[in-house]
Amino acid sequence: TVKWGLNGASTIARQFMINAIRAQPNSEIAAVMSSSPERATAYAKENGIALAVSTLDALLGSDIDAVYISTTNELHLEQALAAIKAGKHVLCEKPLALTSADARTMVAAAKAAGLVLGTNHHLRNAGAHRAMREAIASGRIGKPIAARVFHSVYLPENLQGWRITRPEAGGGVVLDITVHDADTLRFVLGDDPLEVTAFTQSAGMAAGGLEDGAMCIWRFKSGVIAQSHEGFTTKFAGTGFEVHGSEGSLIAKDVMTQKPIGSVLLRTAQGEEELSFDREDLYVRSLRQFHAAIGGEGQPSATGEDGVWSLTSAEAALQSARSGKSVAIDPNL
Ligand code: NDP
Repeated sequence: TVKWGLNGASTIARQFMINAIRAQPNSEIAAVMSSSPERATAYAKENGIALAVSTLDALLGSDIDAVYISTTNELHLEQALAAIKAGKHVLCEKPLALTSADARTMVAAAKAAGLVLGTNHHLRNAGAHRAMREAIASGRIGKPIAARVFHSVYLPENLQGWRITRPEAGGGVVLDITVHDADTLRFVLGDDPLEVTAFTQSAGMAAGGLEDGAMCIWRFKSGVIAQSHEGFTTKFAGTGFEVHGSEGSLIAKDVMTQKPIGSVLLRTAQGEEELSFDREDLYVRSLRQFHAAIGGEGQPSATGEDGVWSLTSAEAALQSARSGKSVAIDPNL
């Protein structure tokens, strides 16, 4: 049995991850930590978790094997390093940290300790994205030329907190959504980005100098160019992911989401074909892969290194938006 400690009484754990952990055959949630004792107790009660604690030491001192970190972004580094030091495997939310240098420190610590570190980039687990990756790898669109990612949403009211008010907590749409898009592009294309140019905006929701919209242009090693649009303020945009190649195009709709929904269309000289793909819960699959990795089989669906890549990419996008220049992406791994 893998005994989990939840580090953070968060929305994402309540909405998706508690279920994903409990969906695994040999798995239990042993404890939850919140910085507030009252919130910890209430959260534990609401979610049927036996132990509620309000310090990291108490969480790491309890009988657990792995820690799921879903606190605000500025806390991930310190909490992950402490968990690793205590000999726990770590599944950490994105962005792994506030800087790529800190994320590399986390990866190095886990490696030195022989522990599994995963980044919770859920979209890699989506059947739609895996179907696109397979179609591209098996040559169904010929040589990939360009990609377009549509991931501008409306931030739900219950999440209109630190993301739009607290730069020091790692708020802003780039650390929130661009990291996912950078990771999903890498995964679907099977390619790494070399450089990015970005514009950001504050369209009326985010405060404190934070951005709530971004458009990025990415150049990949193979020569593919990609564009991605991330936002918190567009209510009616819908999401999508397209890859256009010399022999065909993949056009996916409603796939930049937490749910196993959407469609993938392959268009070639032969006509149009809807690709079928599995509809498993993204987070359940993420947890299964993570458990397998703990058992010595394979790797988490997104590794710590993948988290370094996505954060380096987001960091470069922010730097580009500030400087008005294209910025090279080098994860230094
Ligand atoms: P929340 O705002 O729900 O929770 C973050 C922290 O805020 C909690 O750990 C909690 O601190 C504190 N908090 C929660 N509720 C309250 C409250 N009522 N009053 C005061 N403080 C409160 O964050 P999310 O769940 O949206 O995000 C957490 C992490 O997960 C982030 O790193 C985010 O980027 C990531 N994320 C990833 C997603 C994915 O699909 N991969 C999706 C959504 C988020 P404490 O624990 O101390 O009580």
